[in-house]
Amino acid sequence: MAQPDHLGPFAAVSSFVETAADVLDLPQSTRHALRTPSRELRVEVPIRRSNGDHEVYVGYRIQHDNSRGPYKGGIRFHPTADLDEVRALASLMTWKTALVDVPFGGAKGGIEVDASQFSRQEREQLTRRYARAISDVIGPTIDIPAPDMATDAQVMAWLLDEYEELKGHSPAVVTGKPVALGGSPGREAATGTGCLICLDELLAEQGREPAGTTIAIQGYGNVGSWAARRATAAGYRVVGVSDVHGAIVRPDGLDVDRLDRHVSETGSVTDFDSADPIDGGELLMLDVDVLIPAAVGGVITAENADRVKAGVIVEGANHPVTPAADAALADRGVTMIPDILANAGGVTVSYFEWVQNVQRFRWTEERVNAELRSVLVKAFREVSSTAAELGVDRRTASFVLALRRVTEAARLRGRLFDDPRPIDPAIPGS
Ligand code: NAD
Repeated sequence: MAQPDHLGPFAAVSSFVETAADVLDLPQSTRHALRTPSRELRVEVPIRRSNGDHEVYVGYRIQHDNSRGPYKGGIRFHPTADLDEVRALASLMTWKTALVDVPFGGAKGGIEVDASQFSRQEREQLTRRYARAISDVIGPTIDIPAPDMATDAQVMAWLLDEYEELKGHSPAVVTGKPVALGGSPGREAATGTGCLICLDELLAEQGREPAGTTIAIQGYGNVGSWAARRATAAGYRVVGVSDVHGAIVRPDGLDVDRLDRHVSETGSVTDFDSADPIDGGELLMLDVDVLIPAAVGGVITAENADRVKAGVIVEGANHPVTPAADAALADRGVTMIPDILANAGGVTVSYFEWVQNVQRFRWTEERVNAELRSVLVKAFREVSSTAAELGVDRRTASFVLALRRVTEAARLRGRLFDDPRPIDPAIPGS
């Protein structure tokens, strides 16, 4: 029986951290230190709209932890990107970078704005004002932003340009840039690709085949659409997708190429002529093998978890499943590939992009994709073996591995005062 949901985003993420901290028997002061963000910047972002109106938005850059390297995390333009949400996302970045073992910490930024109706010029103005406001706390060895919801390579190009106006040539200050400005081949597809690398690994572990495996995807933006393309290419059957406007279903499989053309012409998956419309909420309840939530957080809750029919959930989005829903799904034997593993492909290739910028050397797309696969397969297998060894679920195992690495780094730096215990080398990730 599911517990009622009552936690906000940061408390929800922290409760997953707590579960892993219990497994590791971490002292309270260590938990407190690991939970607390290092720095939280709130900025005003004023713009003049094309109609002459003066509007002021609120933006944030939250730096959660840098024990393992410079802060790293995306920037989101979304009405729900408030302090608590951005704090939750910053915390997730700390655990994600640690789990896939890239030498970064965790951060996140956002502006509380619905920019969907903004002109290109208004989006540029918003980005430049925000970039200027956070310019003193970011930098190639300090904090490196990237795209997230409603931001893309173009937004990163404006951010880079504004930063360089102030500080000089610094391509490594931001990742997810256009390739022409030092971006990495493969970065745009990386998060959706990573979801599929994890799913392939899970199926291989379970002795199952992609062919005939059905998938529903919530959200058809960067992550969702790339997951759909990668899934189709690998022989999975994508039977339903959705976006903020609605959802569509086709039981014998969507033609993703045609759907992409429809989305680029109309801006939405709705009204696609070779599929049936369904309610957006119903997408999560489709009778499929695999569900990939790839939109916003908190969409699978105690209220709807018992109606989710998929046996596997791959968290393309950040914190799409609440702790209460997570417990209910685990009780029913649903296999979860948690966000900090499933969607870590984006930050992994962001790391490769940063490395290329620092080295002044461009990698091929083949090399990027091969290195991405090896990083994620290694992380996936470490999660599986840790889960088996400790008798915990994959989410807890993922956080255990991440917490071990961050705790070790923080301890070696002398940031944690109360626990001189040596790290156990027998456990992966220590
Ligand atoms: P995006 O802006 O490119 O796409 C978001 C999609 O979700 C759009 O299709 C939008 O219409 C849809 N959507 C929004 N609200 C919805 C709702 N309530 N119901 C159904 N659909 C809805 O964003 P993105 O970059 O694809 O990010 C999606 C998720 O993946 C976010 O949680 C983000 O934090 C996470 N993520 C993104 C990356 C990345 O590299 N872009 C990396 C890791 C995690």
